[in-house]
Amino acid sequence: MTLIDPQEYREAFVQYLRKGTPIRFETKNTRPTTDYVWRTRRDGKVRSSHAEREGQVFLWDDPPEGGHPGEDYGCRCTAEPYLPQTSEFIEISLQGVSGGGAAWSSRDFVNHYYRGTGRSVTIRETGHLSAIVSEYMARVEKRLKDQIATEARRKRTGGFIYPFGRPYNRTSVVFSIGDTVIGGELSGNVEEKHGVLSVEGSFDFYLRDEFADPADIGVEIIDPGETIFENIHRPLDNHLRGRTGLPPRGPQRLGVQTGEPYSITDDWSGTLSGQIYLDPARSAYG
Ligand SMILES: [Zn+2]
Repeated sequence: MTLIDPQEYREAFVQYLRKGTPIRFETKNTRPTTDYVWRTRRDGKVRSSHAEREGQVFLWDDPPEGGHPGEDYGCRCTAEPYLPQTSEFIEISLQGVSGGGAAWSSRDFVNHYYRGTGRSVTIRETGHLSAIVSEYMARVEKRLKDQIATEARRKRTGGFIYPFGRPYNRTSVVFSIGDTVIGGELSGNVEEKHGVLSVEGSFDFYLRDEFADPADIGVEIIDPGETIFENIHRPLDNHLRGRTGLPPRGPQRLGVQTGEPYSITDDWSGTLSGQIYLDPARSAYG
């Protein structure tokens, strides 16, 4: 959908008024407003039936008796694009983000790798969900709103589904060894009135991650031996202890050969409501 500049639209009307130049069809067809304000010349020659329409709003798709301004014989009235000012906003509120107990430390994630027998965990179980979601939203919220605004303009009226998601490499979250995939889907509905889109919707968000080999040396190594222990396991162990504030301690075989990768998942939801201009040139979104 191409939206014309409101100024171009006004100028087309001026030309129509002064020279009788018809409004180009494509200009009409892609007009940025569904409505116009009836304007008369405000002088003694205005017919009374039109004088009554001064300042009133009409739909392009539903002409009043006698037609749109300028269509009736001898009519000098004009149509002014109806572009009401509105306070644009898109608000996203999240649900199901709280919960969980004390946050797992890095050590806890590693321990689960070695002792959890591969059991999946949820982020909220590890106590990190709200931090993850906060970080995620801080990163994507603006872009997400822009994308949804673009999608709502494309749809203009009715329901739409907007899926999104991508891997986030190396988030600041300590347990994320590989890519953490966060995404979701918006089930939205959009209505247009007077060039303003009202958007409502509900989100389903998801997170999919896997805690794999924390030393990144492959679980197939059965017997690391002293070299690997000294060069990888001890530094890793000390590093993780450093993060948790515990002092380094003596040799402790982490037991790579017994580790089991496990998935880390979660789901949460949200709602969206917004009011944005149909015309992206007027909008702060998209
Ligand atoms: Zn008139």
